Amino acid sequence: MISYEQSQQLLRDAANVYSHCEVEVVDIADSVGRVVAQDVVCRESVPHFDNSAMDGFAVKLSVIHGIPEVLNHWFQVNELVAAGDPLRDEITDDVVEIMTGAPLPSGHFNSVIRIEDVDVIVSEKVKMIRFKRMPRANENIRRVGEDSIVGSTILEEGTQISAQHLLILASQGITDVKVKRKLKVGILSTGKELVNHDCLQLQHGQIRNSTGLFLKHELSSEFTEVSFCGHVGDDPGKFINQMEALFDIGVEVIISTGAVSVGVFDFVRSSLEQMGAKIHFHKCAIRPGKPILFASLMVCGRWRFVFGMPGNPVSSVVGYNFFVKPFIYWIFGLERPRPVRAQLSADVKKPDGLKCFMGARYEKGENDNIGRVEPIKGHASFMVSPFKNLNAWIVLSEMNPVVKALTEVEVYQL
Ligand code: AMP
Ligand code: MG
Repeated sequence: MISYEQSQQLLRDAANVYSHCEVEVVDIADSVGRVVAQDVVCRESVPHFDNSAMDGFAVKLSVIHGIPEVLNHWFQVNELVAAGDPLRDEITDDVVEIMTGAPLPSGHFNSVIRIEDVDVIVSEKVKMIRFKRMPRANENIRRVGEDSIVGSTILEEGTQISAQHLLILASQGITDVKVKRKLKVGILSTGKELVNHDCLQLQHGQIRNSTGLFLKHELSSEFTEVSFCGHVGDDPGKFINQMEALFDIGVEVIISTGAVSVGVFDFVRSSLEQMGAKIHFHKCAIRPGKPILFASLMVCGRWRFVFGMPGNPVSSVVGYNFFVKPFIYWIFGLERPRPVRAQLSADVKKPDGLKCFMGARYEKGENDNIGRVEPIKGHASFMVSPFKNLNAWIVLSEMNPVVKALTEVEVYQL
């Protein structure tokens, strides 16, 4: 049995071998969360015209400097430039009223003095101003390219696009972007006892498939698209047929639930071996979900991957969060979000030698203080109702059978 750290290294290695490099072009409006496949380069400088950063008055410093006792001088203001105005013909006045974002008029205007820094009098429709202080060269002017300059890289390859990045792309007039294609994943649920979650009347011995729907939802993300979802009962032949059908439609990663333990109907490993798969690991020193399996196989010259997760819902959810999710991040060349640290609210008993994942309630600390995390008690791995209160996972290291209250532990927020 391998350790959790070893399992993560094997997943990393497999993700690196895969080197996902297929590309698609998406509208930037649909690009948040996607991973940039090729550097995005600035095509148009922003701003693309010199403009005012303030409401105030554009001035020609060369003229102003020649006026004796200029701070006592009243200037008549005849012109106003507003944001959205086109570039004006050369203005002969020495002072022009200008609004934020308005193009700086041509002809030696090289400073904008804020409205707060002048005295203003208006009489008989004539506006006069006097400087309270000397205007300075270039102040309150946004120059061409000060934000982004043509040819600079605005988003590097490998960046995961966020809403903030939309500000940059939109300001450039970039309407679409090349991103890494979504990974195609398939879900297979094993177990003769399973029926669809929408089945109204259970026969004795049947249960509804809860994890199939959970995984389908989780995997319909910015990284992945779910192509197919089905039950294969406890029939290894059907399992193999369904896997082949998924590979035929281009599915790259299959996540199956159930049938990886030591029961009579636990056929996932033997079926994969029959298909020629390499088993990277089967059983990992964790709780819950110890029988987890990860395999790869070549299908028509391409690597394909299979996760076999134990069927109990808590095991499947842990398998998804701590094995499948990091693997998908690594396929896209990303690091998964880091855990926070928090103080355990109570003593926790755990099996020595196993890495433990415990559903928990996490509360952020106030004023930079460390947060607090409370494990959800009595959450047996078949139970789903405790998920109601869960907003985080505590991850406890292999060592020590008891972790004392107030110990700082790793917490992954949902
Ligand atoms: P297995 O890993 O196949 O031995 O299944 C372990 C337990 O999980 C059994 O009690 C199964 O009935 C249950 N189980 C398996 N698959 C699912 C599923 N998709 N949703 C809910 N429970 C499941
Ligand atoms: Mg089963």
